[in-house]
Amino acid sequence: MVDRVAIQRLMDEEKNEFERKHQRSKALFEEAKSCLLGGVPMSWMVKWAGGFPIFVKGGKGATFTDVDGNNYLDLCLGDTGSMTGHAPEITVAAIKTQVEKGLTFMLPTEDAVWVGKELQRRFGLPFWQMAMTATDANRFALRLCRYLTKRPYVLVFNWCYHGTVDETFATINDATGRVNARPGNVGPQVDPANTTKVIEFNDIPALEAALSTLDVACVLAEPAMTNIGIIHPDPGYHEALRRLTRKYGTLLIIDETHTICAGPGGFTKAFQLEPDLLTIGKPIAGGIPAAVYGLSQEVATRLQSLITSDSIDTSGIGGTLTANALTLASMRATLENVLVDSFYDKTIPLATRWTQGVQSVIDEFNLPWNVTQLGNRGEYWFRREPARNGLQAVTAYDSDLDRYMHLFALNRGILLTPFHLMALVAPDTTLDQIDYHTQVFRDAVLKLLSSKALRPSSPSSSSSRL
Ligand code: PMP
Repeated sequence: MVDRVAIQRLMDEEKNEFERKHQRSKALFEEAKSCLLGGVPMSWMVKWAGGFPIFVKGGKGATFTDVDGNNYLDLCLGDTGSMTGHAPEITVAAIKTQVEKGLTFMLPTEDAVWVGKELQRRFGLPFWQMAMTATDANRFALRLCRYLTKRPYVLVFNWCYHGTVDETFATINDATGRVNARPGNVGPQVDPANTTKVIEFNDIPALEAALSTLDVACVLAEPAMTNIGIIHPDPGYHEALRRLTRKYGTLLIIDETHTICAGPGGFTKAFQLEPDLLTIGKPIAGGIPAAVYGLSQEVATRLQSLITSDSIDTSGIGGTLTANALTLASMRATLENVLVDSFYDKTIPLATRWTQGVQSVIDEFNLPWNVTQLGNRGEYWFRREPARNGLQAVTAYDSDLDRYMHLFALNRGILLTPFHLMALVAPDTTLDQIDYHTQVFRDAVLKLLSSKALRPSSPSSSSSRL
């Protein structure tokens, strides 16, 4: 299907063009190598398809500008952290006001109460705690579940991503079926086989087998997987997940960090899920680091004695700057004014348009690819049918194609989410910008086909959407 030599040639062309357009970014990258490991402040930033990252000058709404003066349509939006659009005005105003009044006190402000009530209203869980990032929220949630159940294992889905949470960096070894450290997992703290059970998403018998041994503290689940393409739950899967976790005394944590794209109360509210705990971070404070986790009445009651104990400050759940005045002010402004019903009314139809645009090109050239939508998020993947689990998705991953599509788009002023081909829509994204993406996507496909880097096969294609 993919001619590796031909695609490499195309990639070289795009890399030359990228370098030509990004001289200042390149110079900054070279300079940064003298003080930042690998020339970047975060190690994965070296992985952008051009060979070095674009250095940003500033952004507003759905667009940003780099230090070379290039403008971009941002469909990455900080991988959901800026799903609100960059610098939403009301959040910025609240931040400015709070900055004048002090940032961090180790004491709550009135905003904390407003935020707690709003989270309760949105997601249906009665009690809330704050964390710095979604990673933190997940770590704390796992810890609490182990504390409550006195069980050692957590269960996750193959090829999930929940942040840099040790237990979740585990995959199923294809040959042996055993749990392995995920490829790339640097210095696993302990062998993940001792902490984690991994099963495929949408596999109910595997779920029951894993839970029936009564040693699983919790399932940590994205309600639809979003980090290995978008994988929707089969009809009835969530009912089974809830029924079986209850049957075997395992707590259910739903991670809404990405699936908040489905609506103001995330997938949980949209599909009436009943998690014991819910975690979410990224966009909820408009880009200021912030995360929260919610607890059911039953979990909260069982935790009461912990929270009033003398040693709560050394519980392993902490963060001095967490829930500070700045975070709470920006969270309140964002939840009250930005991530509201009208946000979804505007962005979801645009994401549908994006999905339809990509689908039209897939159909036109009979590509063995699919495109899937979840709320204001869309993603295409290099297999004909949408994947039902992580293994199916990862098997279809093609690094050369993935990087080419990224770089082709980037050179034409479109930033897609790195490491997979996902687009997020902000309220300021316009119809013309969405259609421009379709045109660029079509041009990339035409280039792949005309250079014979890609040779499509036969039958029909498909899409699925929410
Ligand atoms: N949960 C999910 C579902 C995520 O996709 C991510 C990050 N991509 C996280 C948690 C962790 O978020 P953060 O890196 O902001 O802690």
